[in-house]
Amino acid sequence: MDLRAALHQGTDLLAGSTTPEPRLTAEVLLCHALKRERVFLYSHPEHELSTVEWIHYGRYLYERMQGKPTQYITRTQEWYGRNFRVTPAVLIPRPETEHVVEIALEVARGARTVLDIGTGSGALAVTLALELGARAVATDVSLEALRVAQWNADALGGRVDFVCCDLASGVSGFFDLIVSNPPYIPEREIATLQREVRDFEPHVALLGGETGTELYGRIISQAQGLLRPGGWLIFEIGYQGEAAVRQGLSDGPWSRVETGYDLAGLPRVLRARYAP
Ligand code: GLN
Repeated sequence: MDLRAALHQGTDLLAGSTTPEPRLTAEVLLCHALKRERVFLYSHPEHELSTVEWIHYGRYLYERMQGKPTQYITRTQEWYGRNFRVTPAVLIPRPETEHVVEIALEVARGARTVLDIGTGSGALAVTLALELGARAVATDVSLEALRVAQWNADALGGRVDFVCCDLASGVSGFFDLIVSNPPYIPEREIATLQREVRDFEPHVALLGGETGTELYGRIISQAQGLLRPGGWLIFEIGYQGEAAVRQGLSDGPWSRVETGYDLAGLPRVLRARYAP
């Protein structure tokens, strides 16, 4: 079978199983099977698939049709201009989370020390370490996630130390910036999530207790012992979480509490300055 036919068949199979963007997905999976860039598909449409390439492609198509996210098949996600390794042990980094980096670069450009609480793939910690030229510490409760994050830090070159602990319970020292994209989906909403998310992404990275905002309160109180005066706390929040997280900040020594919105116009990033 040549590439043109393989693409055609893959696209039809994916479309038949109502996979979104069937053509693009078939291209990405075929490239992964061939270990080639996308341009190869168009410059060599007559290339005959070897048996091994054909078997791999077939398996990837099957996995995708079962709902496995493409990124878990290719093991990679481009995020803030860099390729991050992802496995089912970590949440696939979302474009919305890039807003956390944007806000950090806006308000905390001078930060030399950064703490990322619940780092997952390490996307925030590694990106901030590189963009700010800072030293980062990143935590996760999942050792498997930290292995992925460490892999990314090694591959991309950020100066990041990892600590396996619940939120920031195992961290000491003082930081100029603390970021976190904690799990924030209310438990009762699990059934309403897309099957790709619900059945394949780690629930420990998604579910934030009954209301979805349980972890923010704990992070806010831990941050007060870990931020230098004048340092920033920047959260990603769920679209229903803004009021509760703001409430959690209202009793403490926080100033300049501001919400940032994502491209869909939803509250997405909440920042606050530690002003004891
Ligand atoms: N944004 C993710 C989702 O909607 C959730 C991320 C999180 O819980 N921190 O699937």
